[in-house]
Amino acid sequence: MALMRTHACPGMPAPAWAVAGASPAAGAAAFPAAAAAAPRAAGAAVFLDKDGTVLRDVPYNVAPRRMAYAAGARDGLARLARLGLPLIVVSNQPGVALGRFAPEALAPVRRRLARLFAAAGASMADFLYCPHHPAGALPAYAAACGCRKPMPGLLREAARRHGLDLDACWMIGDILDDVEAGRRAGCRTVLLDVGSETEWRAGPLRAPHYVARDLDDAARLLEGEA
Ligand SMILES: [Mg+2]
Ligand SMILES: [Zn+2]
Repeated sequence: MALMRTHACPGMPAPAWAVAGASPAAGAAAFPAAAAAAPRAAGAAVFLDKDGTVLRDVPYNVAPRRMAYAAGARDGLARLARLGLPLIVVSNQPGVALGRFAPEALAPVRRRLARLFAAAGASMADFLYCPHHPAGALPAYAAACGCRKPMPGLLREAARRHGLDLDACWMIGDILDDVEAGRRAGCRTVLLDVGSETEWRAGPLRAPHYVARDLDDAARLLEGEA
């Protein structure tokens, strides 16, 4: 089936405004078809890694109460919200494949993320995750998939759901796998140099377009470029 062929991850349902033909770039998520909005690049969006980028990195955490903003993330989300672009979280969640938690545990994670976005004055347009891992303990998820970053499947699935033009999109993350996923999808990329990347495996697909100190610094870059 098509979902398998494109390695679509279960993610979560698209928001109501993300119907075919709608233009997410036309305004904030809650106000589609804002005709008076200044023209943005059609189909642009900002993809955000979750752990280490939006949230303080707590490995394999799915407890909502342990989810907290990464340094600079609250201000960064507020700044990104003012760009008027959909903000979409794309996250590797190999804890599913490794048997550390069930996929259902990610529903409260999504709700808490949405609240953290809202508390910063932003709106999370979608949350997509990859539940796979090549060495997973659960056969259903033990796969070399196309959605685990550095592969671009999550970004492509988000583009399909929301009618995005990936060339007009940004990917922001704290390791080079985020950069590579963004480049493979055709996005511009920002690496947050916050100490998360330790291997620095090089390659043309792993060279970020920009490097920023934190999410707020990255959002300032986008203000000048988006
Ligand atoms: Mg990360
Ligand atoms: Zn996957």
